[in-house]
Amino acid sequence: MKILIALLALGFATSLLSAEPVPAKLVVLTFDDSVASQANHVAPLLKKHGFGATFFITEGFEFLVDKTHYMTWEQIKALHEQGFEIGNHTRKHAGVTKQKPEQLAADVEFIETRCAEHGIPKPVSFCYPGYATSEAAVKLLRERGYKFARAGGAKAFDPASDEPLLMPQAFDGKPESTLEQFKAAVAQAKDGKIAVMTFHGVPDIKHPWVNTDPAKFEAYMQHLKDEGCTVIAMRDLAKYLK
Ligand SMILES: [Zn+2]
Repeated sequence: MKILIALLALGFATSLLSAEPVPAKLVVLTFDDSVASQANHVAPLLKKHGFGATFFITEGFEFLVDKTHYMTWEQIKALHEQGFEIGNHTRKHAGVTKQKPEQLAADVEFIETRCAEHGIPKPVSFCYPGYATSEAAVKLLRERGYKFARAGGAKAFDPASDEPLLMPQAFDGKPESTLEQFKAAVAQAKDGKIAVMTFHGVPDIKHPWVNTDPAKFEAYMQHLKDEGCTVIAMRDLAKYLK
């Protein structure tokens, strides 16, 4: 009897410690650069489909002066209140490899402070501006309590072998991207791997080289729906990565 109880206790403890298995067709949607179309067009479409997503916020580019093309903090707060994740994309969108650790720390902390001012929780997800990464940045993010950080790349994220603070993307929405390429990225979400998708504005008027046409975006989202994908924010990966 004692042995049985001990075995049950051990099993219970193990289940608490172990991660949930990664389901097939697990997709993370991410949107960079605080573009106004993300609040106006993307969020309502995601809500319609019941999809989660992460919006990586920066005050770089013309965020402070052009409130036609960049979100207001009220819009960012509204995204949080709708259940989306607000992630940190730094104050000025400077590449981390060009910054001293104290500069990067200040730019990361700035977005954390702006979130706090608007009742948004401290971010646990980060996105590397321009996709450049460094060991120093990984260390800094880990020390500041970040769990995930997305870089560039073109492969599915494998929690068994990839560092979550250097998370690759499986797809990077560009004007020339095709539905077939998107479908190929989604198809990588199997065997424990997760497809992390990057978008900028839908559309992105100020940065046409990362523009995604709204009609094309709707086709991408319809594909996720048709495939029965589980579509989540980056923070929701936590239960798969214990
Ligand atoms: Zn960016």
